[in-house]
Amino acid sequence: MKTLLLSLVCPFLAAAAFADPAEWTEPFPPHKIAGNLYYVGSKDLASYLVATPEGHILINSSLESSVPLIRASVEELGFQFTDVKILLISHAHSDHCAGSAEILKLTKAQYCVMTEDAEAVENGGPKRSRLMASYLQFPPAKVDRRLKDGDTVSLGGSTLTARLTPGHTPGCTTWTMEVAEAGRSLKAVIIGSPNVNPGYRLVNNAEYPNMAADYERTFAVLKGLPVDLFLGAHGGYYGMIEKQAKIGTSQGAANPFIDPEGYQGYVADRERAFLAEWEKQKAGE
Ligand SMILES: [Zn+2]
Repeated sequence: MKTLLLSLVCPFLAAAAFADPAEWTEPFPPHKIAGNLYYVGSKDLASYLVATPEGHILINSSLESSVPLIRASVEELGFQFTDVKILLISHAHSDHCAGSAEILKLTKAQYCVMTEDAEAVENGGPKRSRLMASYLQFPPAKVDRRLKDGDTVSLGGSTLTARLTPGHTPGCTTWTMEVAEAGRSLKAVIIGSPNVNPGYRLVNNAEYPNMAADYERTFAVLKGLPVDLFLGAHGGYYGMIEKQAKIGTSQGAANPFIDPEGYQGYVADRERAFLAEWEKQKAGE
């Protein structure tokens, strides 16, 4: 209640009152997901490494303070951090892109960002926002390549496809790729974010008039994607901690990250949450 009152009186103070969750900065064992796809993030902020013979693709730079953690995770897996050649993000919020400027400085990687989020990335946040949330501010970073829906990013025999899944941000991106594992090709989906944040206006939103329609588009896209490996911008989306604990626990056990039912269940749950919030806002509650 206190925060609700505070947010009515002063949105900036309310935003400042929320500290980042501890799991965002707590280290977590880096691990192989499948084939050449690895988890190199914290306990909840997901970063992924696609390791190839020609260098690596890193997805999500996370917070400024995450950079040493991501670097240590990459090196613990036996790879060189300076071999990161391409940097991608899930969307232009600080928990996924604030570390980019530093990583680009360290690696000289090419930064590829969905066109609709590129301006925010280069400006260090959206130009104006009534939200005043701390996740809307981060160090600016130059975008080398602006992507559109369906564009691919390739390196050393691996190809990622950028799917525009907007709403959470205008350029929110879901990454898909085929991963070769044990003679099989697995379809990985890294969900950008299907979540409606506190304070988001789905109706009468002058800053982002198509927000609700964009979420509808996102759910249509997500429901239509073929998926084996269910992944996302936060480990919490897909139960990363519980699944990682199952790796190699029994011989011949299925890869715990192969979870098409979990994926469909998560997307359906998030769609219900979006629709409920939209109805509430339409009713003027
Ligand atoms: Zn976000």
